[in-house]
Amino acid sequence: MEHLIDRAARDIMASKRTIALTGAGISVESGISPFRGKGGLWEKYDPEEYASISSFMKDPARSWTLLAGMLDVIKSARPNPGHLGLAELERMGMLKCIITQNVDGLHQLAGNTDVIEFHGNNRWLVCLDCGKRYPIEWVSPKEIPPRCECGSIKVKPDAVFFGEPIPPEALHRSYSESQNCDLMLVIGTSAVVYPAASMPQVAKRARAKIIEINPEATPFTTSISDYLIQGTAADIIPRIVARIKALASKTT
Ligand code: NAD
Ligand code: ZN
Repeated sequence: MEHLIDRAARDIMASKRTIALTGAGISVESGISPFRGKGGLWEKYDPEEYASISSFMKDPARSWTLLAGMLDVIKSARPNPGHLGLAELERMGMLKCIITQNVDGLHQLAGNTDVIEFHGNNRWLVCLDCGKRYPIEWVSPKEIPPRCECGSIKVKPDAVFFGEPIPPEALHRSYSESQNCDLMLVIGTSAVVYPAASMPQVAKRARAKIIEINPEATPFTTSISDYLIQGTAADIIPRIVARIKALASKTT
């Protein structure tokens, strides 16, 4: 394991343009459960039933029985050492941007300034009838579903629901950042949700190195990853950052 931490530190230092692709796994240690795997949210709830745009439009109140709990978790979640390590890499000039599939806003809270949100954001809500936007704090547990000033209960988190398109700007920028990087850190994503999962393939075709950080192997591990550092984000990322600092202090 230690030799892989060292290898990643050296690869990042040698890279001219490192970017990260993150998934639900990086937020697990902040208390937000992922979609897939043990303890995943969708063992209990069927996404097609609760978090698809068609079912939301049909019956917002029903979708809100799940959304209220999710928003509560996100509201109180704090960045973990994995998020903080990526923010530090950005400050050190060693991470250009993050493409995230997460909707929890934790990368920005950690201090990253260039975050492409592939699936939107649950920290804001939008009324589908009048367009008014509200911050997450506006939602009161006493009024579920929340009701917009205009009277509508079609107030939806600004995240991409099943059946909704990826915001075109995020999609476009993700492709171009993936094409232009020479190193991609793929952290805590199961590599099955497309088109997000195609970003490492785009990077690989452009000859970038792919380093995975995940406690488990994914479909990328044996296909396009250069190597997998098997462990959790909150453990591995700070160790890589510490190794970079140690190597940098030796050379100066
Ligand atoms: P996923 O749920 O499909 O897979 C999670 C991955 O994280 C798995 O490969 C798992 O092995 C790994 N993992 C588990 N614990 C980890 C840890 N401590 N450190 C690092 N990796 C860990 O996640 P996905 O690929 O992001 O796809 C799920 C979709 O659901 C996303 O598109 C996202 O929009 C949405 N989602 C977001 C959140 C969030 O915002 N935090 C949470 C759940 C789901
Ligand atoms: Zn409204």
